[in-house]
Amino acid sequence: MELFADYHTHTRHSHGKGTVLDNVARAAQIGLEEIAITDHGPRHMLGIGIRSLAVLDKTRSEIEAAAAVYPHVKVKLGVEANVTSIRGDIDVAPEYIEKLDLLLVGLHLMVKPEQWLDGLNRAAAHFLRGLTPGLKRKARLLNTEALVNAVNRHPIQIVTHPGHRFDIDTRALARACAARGAAFEINTSHQHMTVSLIKTAANEGVKFAISSDAHQPSRVGDFAYGVWLAGQAGLTPEMIVNAR
Ligand SMILES: [Zn+2]
Ligand SMILES: [Zn+2]
Repeated sequence: MELFADYHTHTRHSHGKGTVLDNVARAAQIGLEEIAITDHGPRHMLGIGIRSLAVLDKTRSEIEAAAAVYPHVKVKLGVEANVTSIRGDIDVAPEYIEKLDLLLVGLHLMVKPEQWLDGLNRAAAHFLRGLTPGLKRKARLLNTEALVNAVNRHPIQIVTHPGHRFDIDTRALARACAARGAAFEINTSHQHMTVSLIKTAANEGVKFAISSDAHQPSRVGDFAYGVWLAGQAGLTPEMIVNAR
């Protein structure tokens, strides 16, 4: 199987180490046809997210400059948005979603919620989930509900690292993603996915994306683990949006 695109990479605009040009240069060097620049949404705290949505306009001009240097690489503008409420709100406004080539969404720690209660539920559910089976079930329900609502409300192409740190109902999320044409990510940075979870998701008809989630240019296009895992789960290139 050949992977031709890396749809999940970070730059210094969030907490990556390289510039847009650095990531694109690496993509060109290893023969990728496409790369997406997908920094974290602005509600990610501690300087992890982009400072404001206006950064996306700057990123777009940097993408155009990089594409001029490496005309054989198609460079896309995306965001790895945060879910900020159980209702599925995300931290990218509709007018900015329109400007994007690609919208990624994932659950992360240290995200400023829309409403304190939502954040409290999700944070508490996450941190305390080891305590009782009841809380664990509640965490799973809330995490799944937040992601399913986000997938149903926004034009999301990829749900990043589903199940990483936040327990989810893989089957329910995969079903929602399949219905809306959103892909399930096999993230080679976090390596949280298992063969059995991939098979469960694939049974719902969802497609997959194998991404590096590179936070430094040298990791752009680092797919080996994902390709191996996909092979173990019996995925064919037709089931993976960036493979052939
Ligand atoms: Zn992430
Ligand atoms: Zn990421």
